Amino acid sequence: MAASTIFSDCSSSATARLLPFRKIRSSALFFRHSSISLHPTAPSHRKSSSAIVPLAMTTETSAKVIDGKLVSKQIRDEITSEISRMKDAIGVVPGLAVILVGARKDSQTYVRNKKKACEAVGITSYEVHLPEDCTEEEVLKSILGFNKDPSVHGILVQLPLPRHMNEENILNAVCIEKDVDGFHPLNVGRLAMRGREPLFVPCTPKGCIELLHRCGVDIKGKRAVVIGRSNIVGMPAALLLQRQNATVTIVHSYTNNPEEITRQADIVISAAGVANMVRGDWIKPGAVVIDVGINPVDDSESPRGYRLVGDVCYEEACKVASAITPVPGGVGPMTIAMLLSNTLHSAKTLHNFK
Ligand code: NAD
Repeated sequence: MAASTIFSDCSSSATARLLPFRKIRSSALFFRHSSISLHPTAPSHRKSSSAIVPLAMTTETSAKVIDGKLVSKQIRDEITSEISRMKDAIGVVPGLAVILVGARKDSQTYVRNKKKACEAVGITSYEVHLPEDCTEEEVLKSILGFNKDPSVHGILVQLPLPRHMNEENILNAVCIEKDVDGFHPLNVGRLAMRGREPLFVPCTPKGCIELLHRCGVDIKGKRAVVIGRSNIVGMPAALLLQRQNATVTIVHSYTNNPEEITRQADIVISAAGVANMVRGDWIKPGAVVIDVGINPVDDSESPRGYRLVGDVCYEEACKVASAITPVPGGVGPMTIAMLLSNTLHSAKTLHNFK
């Protein structure tokens, strides 16, 4: 049975997302609406909830909406001016190479969007498009070419790859200094180890943490639950939260009582890929919810016949959480912003530009 049919659709209205943005104070800059009153919290929750006071100001029934589009725009503007500073000072423009294998429509759209985003900030993009039935050697050859090319500072292999290819071999071939997706095992290993620094961190989890930082959410000492443990989102998100000194629990498809565990979290990052799985009663009052999921559900009223929803039942969760990311418009825009940021960082490092 399709995931979208397992969970009832609880996010049919977009009213909360359409409320006008009111600038209140810097910590609230990224929320579109607000009215001040502290959520009542049970005594056992008081300590941790009070530590997120800047975000615990909510209406009686509605969490603040974390506007990922706005935050990502701010980051892209910062990147644009850094690139222009670097170009003026040393004549270098960052370059990002994307390797796409096969003809998946979704992959083609992602690659097109990445290319557009690069152009907008002044990053030169290079693209290799290989047919579905090409050999692993051909992909490796493209990677090795870009590894040696001094005008390329970041290399990205669009996933998923066709089944006949060994993803591990291919990701291992990207030189660690240009691994702007942060998927190379050396970068992941360093992320997991205390006292080691990865050169790059995977873009989507990095975007989640950046959203929390830029919205003034204190992570240190908080209880965090990450739902999902994939190599590209859940696992690195949990490692990042741990590096920020949160106490982290990972919920996955074999976890018993996921709702009970999730209910203990001050911060929830959900990346399960199951539409509307996280219901309102999974959320602790005042928690901050970052919804990574992008899931299509049938919608006869939409011209496309479907629309995208998150893992979190938005309408229920926003009555309980203090802040929440919408889908779309939350984590999604942050992923590309972090890719641009990683590419700029790579160019600066490779050219020793401060
Ligand atoms: P994945 O399928 O690789 O991993 C899903 C993880 O969720 C697995 O670890 C699995 O154990 C867990 N899971 C699945 N069902 C579960 C359940 N019922 N209860 C608890 N855990 C469960 O997916 P992924 O690549 O990590 O992506 C997850 C979601 O995030 C998808 O909806 C994807 O479209 C979305 N995504 C969004 C962005 C973005 O930029 N916003 C980027 C990547 C992925």
